[in-house]
Parts: sequence; structure tokens; C-alpha cells
Amino acid sequence: MSATGEPSFRQSVDLMFNRAAALMDLPPGLEEKIRVCNATYTVRFGVRLRGEIRTFTGYRSVHSEHMEPAKGGIRFAPNVNQDEVEALASLMTYKCALVETPFGGSKGGLCIDPRHYDDFELEQITRRFAYELIKRDMINPAQNVPAPDMGTGEREMAVIADQYQRMNTTDINAKACVTGKPPHAGGIQGRVEATGRGVQYALQEFFRHPEDIAAAGLSGTLDGKRVVVQGLGNVGYHAAHFLSTEDGAIITHVIERDGVVSDPEGLNINALRDWIAENGGVRGFPGAEYHEEGLKALEAECDILIPAAIEGVINMHNAQSIKAPLIIEAANGPVTAGADEILRHKGTVIIPDLYANAGGVTVSYFEWVKNLSHIRFGRMQRRQEEARHQLIVDELERLSADPGINWQLTPNFKERYLRGAGELELVRSGLDDTMRAAYQSMREVWHTRNDVTDLRTAGFMVSIGRVAASYRAKGL
Ligand code: GLU
Repeated sequence: MSATGEPSFRQSVDLMFNRAAALMDLPPGLEEKIRVCNATYTVRFGVRLRGEIRTFTGYRSVHSEHMEPAKGGIRFAPNVNQDEVEALASLMTYKCALVETPFGGSKGGLCIDPRHYDDFELEQITRRFAYELIKRDMINPAQNVPAPDMGTGEREMAVIADQYQRMNTTDINAKACVTGKPPHAGGIQGRVEATGRGVQYALQEFFRHPEDIAAAGLSGTLDGKRVVVQGLGNVGYHAAHFLSTEDGAIITHVIERDGVVSDPEGLNINALRDWIAENGGVRGFPGAEYHEEGLKALEAECDILIPAAIEGVINMHNAQSIKAPLIIEAANGPVTAGADEILRHKGTVIIPDLYANAGGVTVSYFEWVKNLSHIRFGRMQRRQEEARHQLIVDELERLSADPGINWQLTPNFKERYLRGAGELELVRSGLDDTMRAAYQSMREVWHTRNDVTDLRTAGFMVSIGRVAASYRAKGL
């Protein structure tokens, strides 16, 4: 417990777990077995930089190996610590179970502020960290597969894959040792956008259920909904971009490190992202109002609040003042257990992290399968699918040419219908299907059990049930 009375991140996840487990009928001891983190490895290593040796501290935590490999990102951030990495690893277990990706949960972190290093230095540091993990099988296609997280991206994943290949020259599945690689280095189309895209699909699915919309005190569709986004990193940017350009949502506020910008008519997310890249923050973004006190805007009037940055931003201090009737947790752990309780009593609907941000690991799963199968999705079927579509189009054209029949094909139909699905279309289809199915498994528990009043508890119950079933199948 911290001085503020707020539990630590890991305790917070455990409290949420306990709440769900208490409503389940698990065999004695199994609850404890599932909850605890199996192992955390701490490594300290030195890298010669700028004429001196600098020592770095990193972690890789495996929460559960009920399925292998264990899966989860590697975060580069200055305040990374064991408690955080273990909390994030446990969330990975429940996330993977909920979206049915056949993995255990893991997470890694390196205490570093990547902004203090240039590209070459970062490569050396990443390579050395990867070396330390690979030599202990903490990166391995069959045992432990990292991915991007805060402060890391395609570039770091490419370095990790390369380092693994150097150390395992005869491993034909070497590329599957890490996901989130750039497409030219064994990655998959649509991985960078995947978590933000998953947030969009999650909201689309939520808005397909009138009962759920009403539970949040909302009505209608995503069109015209006022949205506050905290964090315009990879996840926040993609979610905000897709929601505003494809679903008609209005992004009224974007909160970043240096403050918040707002515009009741809606911010142009692409322009704002370019502005941040050029100026290092949101301050001065043309046409928008700016305030230095960014986090205060979490309390702004809106329909949907999307925390998409770090854990603990909605806590016991501000939970009571949150006005959004619907929160979707694009980040991991943005709402503490204490805040969760306050919001639950207020009637706020929370679409929880273990579901809301699972788009990333879902597409990571597709990438891992692609690497193991050594073939791009759609390569075998695409032209055959197009040829069959061509048959129908030819037939329709023959019929519409008959002067006695007064109809014709809609312009564009032929082109749209004929196009067979490529990798990106298949990835999006698989992700959409996954997000719909996982939501439905959660909402079924939410609506059928009187003792379950929130989606988080429902999501944990589905996940814990699946992990328990897998342990039972192993005879535990
Ligand atoms: N770091 C991401 C997460 O928290 C992705 C994990 C992965 O793709 O393995 O879900």
C-alpha cells in the first residue's frame, strides 16, 4: 500500500482478480496458483556508451505458463520496476485467455528513457538486453515471445529478432521469437495499428448492444460521440484516428505530457500528431484551446474517455470527479482497484484493459502463426477466390446485357467484389472477429449473473475459467 492509500499496480490487479475468483467455484489452491507470478528475472548489464560503461536494469516476468510460449511486450521507460512488470505480465495471462490466443502471460521492461539515446545507442542497448534474455531462453519462439510496448516498436523488435537469429543460426522458426517486427523483417501487415484498431472494434461491438449502451446512460451510435483521449502514442493515436475518421466520433480533448488541447468541434488527429512530432508537445496547436494541467481534463464532460497511456491515471483522487459515463481502457491498468470501486458505484461502465487493448496481442498471434507457417496469409487463396468471384461477375454481366432485363451493376461493385483478400484484410477480419467474440463471452456473464455488475469482473471470470480449465486438462 502506498502512502496515498492506493495499492500498488500488482496489488490492484490481484484485487480485481480476487473479486472475480470469489464468485467462482475453483478447487482449493487453484486460485492461488493462477494468481501468483511464476518467475521474474532481473538482469543488470553494462554497455559502453559515450566513453564510459553505463549499467542498465531490466526485467522479464513470466506470470503463467499454462500455455507456452508466454507472451507479452517489452517496455522501455525510466520508472519500470518489478511490481509493474509483474502486474503487466499477469494482465497478459488474462488478456490472452479472454481473446483465445494460445499463450501464457509474460512482460519485460528496461529502466531507460529512450529519448536520452540516439538510434545507434538504442540498438546497442536493445541488443545487449536481448542477448541476456535469449541466453536464458527468456526469448524463444516456443517459450517466451516478446512484442512492442511503451517506448518500443518495430525497430527494437527487428533488433531482437536479428540477435536471436545470430545466436540460433539453425533455428528455422527463429523469426517467431518476437512479434511486432517490421513487415520486411518477418512482421505482418496491420500490427502497428492493431491495438488502436482493436479499441475501435471493441467500441463498435459495444455499440451493437442497446442494453449495454443504455447501461452506460448513452444512446445511439458512435457517430457524434464526444471523446477524450489521454496519450497520443501508438495506441491512442490509432484509436482516435480510426474513431474520428471512420465512425464519426468527435475527439474533443487530447491529453499529453505537456498539457491538454481541446476543441468542442473535434481535433484533427493527424494534424495534431504531426504537430507533436515537430514541437515535442501539444502546446500551441493551432485552432485549439490549451491548458497546462493535462490530467484535469480526464474529468471533462464527454461521452467516452479513453486512457491510452500509463497505469494509475484514474485513481482514488480523481475517480469521483470523472464525468464520462463510458471508459475504455486502451492502456494497461489506467484505473486503479480503488478507482474501479468508486466508478462502479457511480454507474460508470468500464470496458476493461484485458479486453480493450487485446488487439495488439491478437495480431501478434497472427504474426507468430505466419512465422511458423512460413507463408503470408492469403497467398494460396487470393487468386482462386478472385477467379470464383469473376465467374459470378461474368454471369451477372451476361444477364444485365439482356435488353429485356432492366437492371445493371452498381458502379464500383465489380472492382470491390472481385478483389480477393490480402494479408491486411485478413488480419483486420481476424481481429474484428476476435474482438466481437471476446466481448460476447464477457457480456454473457455480465448479463446472466446477478452477482456480476461490471464487465471487468465478467472478463476476469471468463479468463480465470479458461486458465483453470487448461490446468485441469493437465491434471493439476
Ligand atoms: N504490449 C502489448 C500488450 O500489452 C502487446 C503484447 C504482445 O503483442 O505480445 O498487450
